[in-house]
Amino acid sequence: MHIMHLSYHPLVLELKHPFRIATGMRTHTNAMRTCIRVGAHEGLGEAVMVPYYGENHETASTFLAKAAALLHGFSGDFSIASIMGEVDAIASGNHAAKAAVDIALHNLWSDMTGHPLWELLGSDPEKMPPTSFTLGIDTPEVLRQKMAEAADFQVIKIKIGTADDRSIIRTIREITDKPIYADANQGWTDREAALDLVHWLQAQGVVLIEQPFLKTDLAAAAWLTARSPLPVFADESFQRLSDLPAVADCFHGLNIKLMKCTGLHEGQQIVRAARARHLKLMIGCMTETPCGILAAAALAPQCDFADLDGCWLVKNNPLPLPDLREGRVWLPHFPS
Ligand code: MG
Repeated sequence: MHIMHLSYHPLVLELKHPFRIATGMRTHTNAMRTCIRVGAHEGLGEAVMVPYYGENHETASTFLAKAAALLHGFSGDFSIASIMGEVDAIASGNHAAKAAVDIALHNLWSDMTGHPLWELLGSDPEKMPPTSFTLGIDTPEVLRQKMAEAADFQVIKIKIGTADDRSIIRTIREITDKPIYADANQGWTDREAALDLVHWLQAQGVVLIEQPFLKTDLAAAAWLTARSPLPVFADESFQRLSDLPAVADCFHGLNIKLMKCTGLHEGQQIVRAARARHLKLMIGCMTETPCGILAAAALAPQCDFADLDGCWLVKNNPLPLPDLREGRVWLPHFPS
């Protein structure tokens, strides 16, 4: 009987360009790489800790030390559901650190069975949505340069929620006619002005709106959702499965991120629960390495939209970039 070993070490992901959104700017993202071993098998995972959710290297180390002690009691004959139930109960919060355990467990499962993760999750690679490439808030010159870097992507995600959203969109439209996902990152405040802007954005070829208002202002979200000609998605307003009842009637769709929802185990539960309530689904990411991106990509065919460009924004990836084919993350036919 082999014992389960969890190891972890910190990493700082350096971004190719400073990343600016309506609520702040950053040049790097703190991450934690994990590895779970059982006998000759192993699975890699990661936590990526964006500053606005309160996790950092110290909180993740503290949490993962407890998770490692807990996993030591398991052997190769494990159930991800029961392990993640116990991991979740170690402490509240720590969503990214929990995801680091979850992703490693799923990759371990893939390694032990010899099946690719997407197959174990019941995903159909033929249904992989194109992945958008995200542009932060920047000057027209920088946006032009970044658009050139995004040539392989078929969809653009634009960060707006500023005082001058129209000029950002006009600049993008001078460069490309690709479809646009517009993410306001809680930056809008006035409902009527937001609705006017959504109509204008629709005429510019924007196909969806993400997180228009403050994450706690669900009444404003519900007001806009009832009137918007474009689907309105929750991102910051929606973290975990337990948030679903509160937001389900306030948005057309949800942006699922493994770093928010503690990983693939709960991510799959969210997909099922959201579909039962006829919600649209996007699967998104943080500025992650290919490890986190490929884990999310394995679930992406079960979602309508994908925003899985995170590893293309990172300068010091510890793993090779995934293949991108026709703007879609290519799912490998072997355990990753
Ligand atoms: Mg977002």
